[in-house]
Amino acid sequence: MDLSVVTNAFLAQTGLICLALTLCVMALERIADEPNIPGRIGIGLLFGVTGAILMNMPGAVVDEYYFDLRLVPVAVAGLVAGPIGSATAAFVASIARVEMGGDGTLLGLAGLWLSFAVGCLGWHGLKKDRDTVGYGALFGGMTATVAISALILMPETARQKILASNLPGVVLVLNFLTAFIAACYVGLNRRRKRDARTGVLHSQVVAALPDALYAKDLEGQFILATERSAALFGAKTAADLIGRHEVEFHKRGDAWRILQEDRAFLSNPAPMTMQRVLRRADRDIFLSTVKAPYLDEEGRLQGVVCYSTDITAQKTLEAELTATQHLLHTAIDEMADGLAMFERDGRLRLWNQRYLELFPYVEDLLPAKPMLGDILRAGIMRGHILIPKGKTAVSWVEEELQRSADAQTSELLLDSDRWVAKKTSILKDKGWVTLYADITEKKLAVAELEKIANRDGLTGLANRRYFDLQLQASLRDARDLGRPVSLLLLDVDFFKPFNDTYGHPAGDQILKTIASTLQACCRRRTDTVARYGGEEFAVIMPDADTALAQEAAIRLRDAVRALGIAHEASPLGRVTVSIGVATREGRSSVIATELLEECDAALYVAKCSGRDTIQIAASNPSDERQPSVLASAR
Ligand code: GH3
Ligand code: MG
Ligand code: MG
Repeated sequence: MDLSVVTNAFLAQTGLICLALTLCVMALERIADEPNIPGRIGIGLLFGVTGAILMNMPGAVVDEYYFDLRLVPVAVAGLVAGPIGSATAAFVASIARVEMGGDGTLLGLAGLWLSFAVGCLGWHGLKKDRDTVGYGALFGGMTATVAISALILMPETARQKILASNLPGVVLVLNFLTAFIAACYVGLNRRRKRDARTGVLHSQVVAALPDALYAKDLEGQFILATERSAALFGAKTAADLIGRHEVEFHKRGDAWRILQEDRAFLSNPAPMTMQRVLRRADRDIFLSTVKAPYLDEEGRLQGVVCYSTDITAQKTLEAELTATQHLLHTAIDEMADGLAMFERDGRLRLWNQRYLELFPYVEDLLPAKPMLGDILRAGIMRGHILIPKGKTAVSWVEEELQRSADAQTSELLLDSDRWVAKKTSILKDKGWVTLYADITEKKLAVAELEKIANRDGLTGLANRRYFDLQLQASLRDARDLGRPVSLLLLDVDFFKPFNDTYGHPAGDQILKTIASTLQACCRRRTDTVARYGGEEFAVIMPDADTALAQEAAIRLRDAVRALGIAHEASPLGRVTVSIGVATREGRSSVIATELLEECDAALYVAKCSGRDTIQIAASNPSDERQPSVLASAR
């Protein structure tokens, strides 16, 4: 068998296969990437007919055994159009083989359907993106193996003839080569299409980017730019940017800076993010730009890829936030009240100037970020905060912390005699903010009001209202403690005639003089001297028995008498007072009105006894002594 004749015949077959494959790929290019079922059948028919033609222009015939490349189009049909395509091709080729008849018919059919199986495997493999040369070789190998396996099943005589020739080598090599080339071609074509699709996808993604993406070469000229980039640099279209230098689109100062930046990046091309300002005629644009090196396939630096985001709105917001914060801090510092904000764990977070003025010692604690408990304890230790009577420092601090946590109001007394009212509000994060108001003036005003409410305007003594409260309190204490309490009622004698004689203003003056005299004579701090009404006075003497009260009554009566104020309308010739005395001793449950009535009755007796006298009340349940009228020294 002449090798060159056989080889030429087989090469002609290879050409026909390539022609069919090219036709198929061209058709697919125009119609669809993935053929549908009619398309697959069509491809199957094309390759089936190719197979049939190949059988009719055999490379070699030995004892009615035809040797050609018919297996390749059947397998390749599977590669391009899957099992349907391959089956169609195998079917068409099978009809042609049966038509041809002869001893090798069965063997020929077996070979065709084995190629169908190879085609299916190839299709499956390509689906998994195995479009490498190695995969093509595997496909070629499988096809060549199917082709050569026919030799094993041939009758001995035919096989011997063939083995003696160079036909097996040609069959093996050309089946392998043709299938290999076809598989590589199909694979590469698929990859090209996929890359084209990916390219389109990338373009669409890049075009849809909300920010400017552009690349510059080593000279700083644009080599790629999106439409957003054109808008950013003030060019009409992205195409207008290409080939031009970025500095052309900036003001002179900015351009110089950009050149410097680009040079710095190219000398050390590591991905980085930077911010810069583009000055435009109408406004400044703040940009955040991500820079990355643009490398060629060999990894050589070709330029820089930039992705610039317009952060002007964010910057404006930041500036507004800073301004607002500044305003807020100023407002907080200008507040009349102290303000302190605490974390949920009680740590001091924020404070104003006024807070430090109220609690100056806190300034020393600030570096340690103090807790409220530390602040309170330090305030007590340094004598700056005065704790209420009857409280220990520990218990008071605990209560204060609890009050803060419960947003309760409280008042603090500072060593500077100043009162501070605390008002706390709980914040969302469970921290809290406390306002400290200086209420010293208010406290003083309240004290003044209380004084006015409890004092008699003419004499400055306690008034009737205060007297009533004080008497009730004294009786209650006396009962609780089992101690005595005495009451003295004094009435100026013949005062109406005094007024009539000397005039009302002079009468007022006398009332004032008597008031101060009585006050001066009551030596005990616990005694309360009050103006009971008109020209009547009262003295409450807690913890004073009858003897002490009597002694005091004598002293008071004598003191008024000793004033020696002339009273020509009085038979006594001077201003005098009469005094009724009532005492309760032991755990008596007498009420104020009863004691007053007793005392008033005693005063009445004193008046009746000629005035300028003292009368001890009779009905003291714990006093068995008989009432006695004490003679006054006339
Ligand atoms: P007696 O010795 O019985 O107490 O006689 P009296 O005149 O003092 O008693 P009376 O109750 O008749 O008069 C009390 C007088 O006290 C009448 C009233 O003009 C006078 N008086 C009451 N309050 C004031 C006051 O605020 N100023 C002056 N100047 N006189 C007052
Ligand atoms: Mg009177
Ligand atoms: Mg009187």
